[in-house]
Amino acid sequence: MHASRHENEARPEVVYLDNNATTRIAPEVFEAMVPFLTEYYGNPSSAYSFGKFVEGHLKEAREKVAALLGCTPKEIIFTSCGTESDNMAIWSALQTSAKRHVVTTQVEHSAIMNQTEQLERMGFGVTRLPVQPDGTLLPADVENAIRDDTGVVSIMWANNETGVLFPVEEIASICKRKGVLFHTDAVQTPGKIDLRNVAKSDIDLLSMSGHKLHAPKGVGVLYARKRTKLVPYVIGGGQERGKRGGTENVASIIGLGRAAELAMEKLSDEQTRVRAMRDLFEEALLQRLPHLYINGRREQRLPNTSNIAFDFVEAEAILMRLDRKGICASSGSACTTGSLDPSHVLSAMGLTPARARSCVRFSFSHYTRDADIKYALEIVPPMIEELRAMSPLNPEHTDNFAYDVTAAREKEEKLMAHTMAAINE
Ligand code: PLP
Repeated sequence: MHASRHENEARPEVVYLDNNATTRIAPEVFEAMVPFLTEYYGNPSSAYSFGKFVEGHLKEAREKVAALLGCTPKEIIFTSCGTESDNMAIWSALQTSAKRHVVTTQVEHSAIMNQTEQLERMGFGVTRLPVQPDGTLLPADVENAIRDDTGVVSIMWANNETGVLFPVEEIASICKRKGVLFHTDAVQTPGKIDLRNVAKSDIDLLSMSGHKLHAPKGVGVLYARKRTKLVPYVIGGGQERGKRGGTENVASIIGLGRAAELAMEKLSDEQTRVRAMRDLFEEALLQRLPHLYINGRREQRLPNTSNIAFDFVEAEAILMRLDRKGICASSGSACTTGSLDPSHVLSAMGLTPARARSCVRFSFSHYTRDADIKYALEIVPPMIEELRAMSPLNPEHTDNFAYDVTAAREKEEKLMAHTMAAINE
């Protein structure tokens, strides 16, 4: 039998700048998981001690995740992913009342977008709130959209494409005052912003996902504030106190517990070093390239995310070339890659289709090294110059072939030397 193509290929060395799509598993997380994939395979629901031992470790993992949100372990429900947590939150909220209207935004992840479209087909009403040109959301718009028949308001905490943060605690208070359940998709936030006040806030339901915080793929969390009525979405055994059927994904949950601890330990690194790295990356590009725009309100973003419009160039062309150089970045979210439509998030912010199609998201993490940024800064500017030189979209040169690539490169090299000196200082 022939080995498959992938088996024969050496693993590519990558400079991974797509941490909002997924993250690497932290070594400490992997280490914590291994015994539960090998030796301790008992079912946590079994009555004998081999099962009880596993149950004890699940309990510990639940406590660690609860600490991340400042809540009690009973308020944590493990699910299979962020999508399931989102779907369960909205579904459950609508099942627990006769109300048939949902308020959400135009910039949610497809987990919520596609679910609310499905709800519309089922006869529910959905209001999708617009955002401002800088990607922010006005709490007053939420307040005005709530109707007597609104069953749930679902608004993401941090946008996966731009990193823009919404004032969800303030919105949660508005919802409480109006007597409406509030859910937030917080999948992009753990380890990037401090979540320890969640339990003190008026947020009723909150989703998280393991693979965005250096835990494995295929495990998620739904936080449900105590006394929030819940209807199971996955119906089966009595796991998760009857709220979510299915034998627990033990090793991944153990990993997620460890990842939650690390997220808290490394929060200050993310908010200082990673933020500084992201800011330097943006500043360096802005200095060296004209017609470049950073999407999203600068000071109201996740510290790790940079969404950049490179006017006159198609993001797909940039991404293909970056890929050849071993750099992973993305346009839109990983879940919508392959679609030719401009990003719904950037469109909602009012970007023209042409500009929205020129945007690339770079997202960094605790594991991003200075050398990765340096490398990306060596590659990106000349690449954009070259693509622009060839681009029929570029209004500056009607005769594109007359564009002086050599002169552009020389200028580029000088600026590069200047930036490298700044980084090395
Ligand atoms: N919500 C947001 C904001 C996301 O970024 C993602 C993942 O990309 C999800 C939900 C879905 O999470 P999962 O991949 O665990 O289903």
